Amino acid sequence: MTQIIDTRIAEPKRFIPGATGDWEVIIGLEVHAQVSSNSKLFSGASTKFGAPANSNVSLVDAAMPGMLPVINEECVAQAVRTGLGLKAQINLRSVFDRKNYFYPDLPQGYQISQFKNPIIGEGTIKIEVGPDKQGDFEEVEIGVERLHLEQDAGKSMHDQHPLMSFVDLNRTGIALMEIVSKPDIRSSEEARAYVTKLRTILRYLGTCDGNMEQGSLRADVNVSVRKPGGEFGTRCEIKNVNSIRFVGQAIEAEARRQIAVIEDGGVIDQETRLFDPAKGETRSMRSKEDAHDYRYFPDPDLLPLEFTQEYVDDLASHLPELPDDKHDRLRDEMGLSAYDASILVSTKSIADFYEQVAAGRDGKLAANWVINNLLGKLKEEDHTIKDSPITPEQIGAIIDLITANTISGQIAKDLFEIVWTEGGDPVAIVEERGMKQVTDTGAIEAAVDEIIAANPDKVAEVREKPKMVGWFVGQVMKATGGKASPQMVNQLLREKLGL
Ligand code: ADP
Ligand code: MG
Repeated sequence: MTQIIDTRIAEPKRFIPGATGDWEVIIGLEVHAQVSSNSKLFSGASTKFGAPANSNVSLVDAAMPGMLPVINEECVAQAVRTGLGLKAQINLRSVFDRKNYFYPDLPQGYQISQFKNPIIGEGTIKIEVGPDKQGDFEEVEIGVERLHLEQDAGKSMHDQHPLMSFVDLNRTGIALMEIVSKPDIRSSEEARAYVTKLRTILRYLGTCDGNMEQGSLRADVNVSVRKPGGEFGTRCEIKNVNSIRFVGQAIEAEARRQIAVIEDGGVIDQETRLFDPAKGETRSMRSKEDAHDYRYFPDPDLLPLEFTQEYVDDLASHLPELPDDKHDRLRDEMGLSAYDASILVSTKSIADFYEQVAAGRDGKLAANWVINNLLGKLKEEDHTIKDSPITPEQIGAIIDLITANTISGQIAKDLFEIVWTEGGDPVAIVEERGMKQVTDTGAIEAAVDEIIAANPDKVAEVREKPKMVGWFVGQVMKATGGKASPQMVNQLLREKLGL
């Protein structure tokens, strides 16, 4: 349909697990993202997921004679917001076309889509891949070719009755954004990063819930292989891949298949294929149809879609902060590493949580607590940040206790566990359970003297090997029930041992 240009001049990634020889894989993704809106693209029927079959169907969706589509302005606004989030060209004039084909779950006999004049033109998505052997992350820009609005189809069900197929039209006519990437993606890892990042952007914008299990986000994966730097090979399109993991697996399986065919002296036929996750293979579904097979033409029931630059500017001025901007702001204002910033912005809820913890506190310390302690524990206990039993205020209070030297880092970890399971105010818990750090020099000194007196052999050793002081610190901490200030213990030991 469009002329394909190799816009990505980069070090080719040649590693295709299980494949022989020196090959490069070229990938372009068509992501279908369901627009978050209460009603469908051209009708007032509800989009609610999980409703009884055929309860969200209006006369328009059922394609009754004489029914006319009316554009849902909220879907247009959502597409424009998404275009802005992808830093893309917003087309003030676009056209709805009919893409003609028969399908039992498409009562109109055609899908209303946008062909020559989509609502959104070229944009970009920044992804991070890695880490490489040095632990560095590579930042890569993937081009977006276009985004257009179109109707979803219904669902045929072939497993409900031995002799009949059923159809559920609830999804018929729901608005989709088809987001088409350039063939800039060069590995399964980049493809997974691209879908992940796109989903993050959509979720920040609130334009698609990104829920792949419910089918709100699905990817058609185009794969071809070539000798590095050579001409693009013939692509195959793997339809409707519904998880990020499967996107990666489908690409690798398909690349291996194509390489094997070519190395055997065969040629790749352009075709549509399906990925079978159980077998880890792709299989042919049908030979590829071309645009002209669909007899596209502008839908005579709909005027061209036109809006003004002011309309776009107004939507732009109400856009939330985007993940890339948030990333750079946290990195620069909070002094975080790029890596920590990416973890924190990976979902908006984590970023919001972090910002509440960090407000008025040391940004790095807050990041350590959220990433290492909280996210680690959430994962372990199979929780998400949204149902975290511990609040930003509670973690903030723990950090304040550390900063004020009231508790040691070790005690803070115990305190975190207590607050996680029992809840409560960290300050009160520390008070009630006597968890305060001992900073009374006399008490610590007594413990230090006792340990030194009881271990003359170790004292001789530590004078030879000053690193051994760690053993003494451990003993004193034990003797004080972990409550001595580690800095004070260290300092006193060094003085008394003459290190
Ligand atoms: P169609 O509707 O025929 O699928 P589109 O233009 O909608 O065509 O999408 C084509 C997709 O295939 C784009 O994502 C594009 O980047 C990708 N693509 C094009 N050529 C190749 C190629 N040689 N190898 C891999 N992907 C490709
Ligand atoms: Mg396509």
